[in-house]
Amino acid sequence: MINKTKWAIKETKLRISYMTSRECIFCKIIKGQIKSKLLKETGKVIAFNDINPIASVHILIVPKKHIESVSAINTSDGGDLVEMFDVATELASKNKLDAYRISFNAGHYQHVPHLHMHLLAGDKIQWSKL
Ligand code: AMP
Ligand code: ZN
Repeated sequence: MINKTKWAIKETKLRISYMTSRECIFCKIIKGQIKSKLLKETGKVIAFNDINPIASVHILIVPKKHIESVSAINTSDGGDLVEMFDVATELASKNKLDAYRISFNAGHYQHVPHLHMHLLAGDKIQWSKL
């Protein structure tokens, strides 16, 4: 069970860090300048555990290329997207997930301005927090 108050405090701190960081936080993770719980790295993609999970499995799958959001995707990004979905399938299988959900946030729902896929699984996904 994820403690609501602890989650909210951590989320507020994270959002302040996005606003005050001069460089994209996910680009820093990709360069190894910020530590993460790395689960998989391929030529085009990295996957790591979300630092403030809303479900028992909450993995972020991120293209190494800095694409701002779903609305900034263009045809040259096709290979990056396919690799993201391949990594999602591989991690779902590795974690023996018989059911999972994939979500992308955009607009005011998106807080980190670097495209990322949320891979979520478990009985109690707290959608209102995503
Ligand atoms: P979104 O609101 O779709 O932009 O999601 C951003 C996600 O990134 C949130 O679920 C955060 O908890 C997560 N996050 C932010 N910073 C980190 C970090 N350093 N390591 C892992 N996950 C992070
Ligand atoms: Zn970035």
